[in-house]
Amino acid sequence: MKIYGILGTPYCGSTSLTFIISGAKCVFPIGESIHINNKSKCSVCVDKPCPFWTKEFTEEITQENIHKKVLEKVKQFGDFDIILYADKSPMIYESFKKLGTEFDKFFVLFKSPEAYIYSRLKHDKDNSELMVKELDAYFQVYSYKIFDSKNLFYLSYDDLTTNSVVVIKKLCEWADIPFDEKMLNLRLVGNKIHSISGNTGAYTHIWPKNFVKRFVKSKYWKDNFSKYHSEKALNESGKIIHDIRWKTGLTDKQKEIISAHKPSQDIYKTMLSKRLYI
Ligand SMILES: [Zn+2]
Repeated sequence: MKIYGILGTPYCGSTSLTFIISGAKCVFPIGESIHINNKSKCSVCVDKPCPFWTKEFTEEITQENIHKKVLEKVKQFGDFDIILYADKSPMIYESFKKLGTEFDKFFVLFKSPEAYIYSRLKHDKDNSELMVKELDAYFQVYSYKIFDSKNLFYLSYDDLTTNSVVVIKKLCEWADIPFDEKMLNLRLVGNKIHSISGNTGAYTHIWPKNFVKRFVKSKYWKDNFSKYHSEKALNESGKIIHDIRWKTGLTDKQKEIISAHKPSQDIYKTMLSKRLYI
């Protein structure tokens, strides 16, 4: 069994990428294992009983045995060759290593510093101090040096949404995953996924249609998501949509602060130059 992970900042698109890669038969996605505890609930089955994250199974889980338990359970659960984690933070992956879990490969998923800051500001207070702190964090995540560079596949979210077929086929070739047409339509992969945590908006692509329709009308949705998200959630295509709202959503002053932050701009350029599918 091989173990792969998605590396990146918060809001880098890791939930959508998890679903895409899980379109391949041999991949079992865990989601964000940092949120697994003895009361974990599957984010796909939601309120229905989950065949993977059963009550008995989650009750056996402790901070120390998570990865060992998950590995055993995946082996019993089906014929999978790859376990995929979406914990994103390199510091979290480093702590896995200390617990004895070695990763074979990582997908380094990134957006531009502008797109990243836009996503962050949607959820946090808008001020320039926060922006610089977040830009430092962006640099820190992507320049972390514990991983062997030959095990890293650099993947831009913009490329993934605008040039999906080329990018996904190259990713498959690099990661030794047989390409499957299902990887291009998230609606087709939903029923095999049992992952923990992640981006609620992305889950609307794989939840049953009736459930999504009801959910979009709920108070929780109205309090947390915009009209843009509702349109996305109800779209039939199952494709992730290219998101360039930062272009109009950021002020000129904000764009100026971001472009002046050299460490994050430089690391972004470096990552673009490391893409294997260009
Ligand atoms: Zn489930």
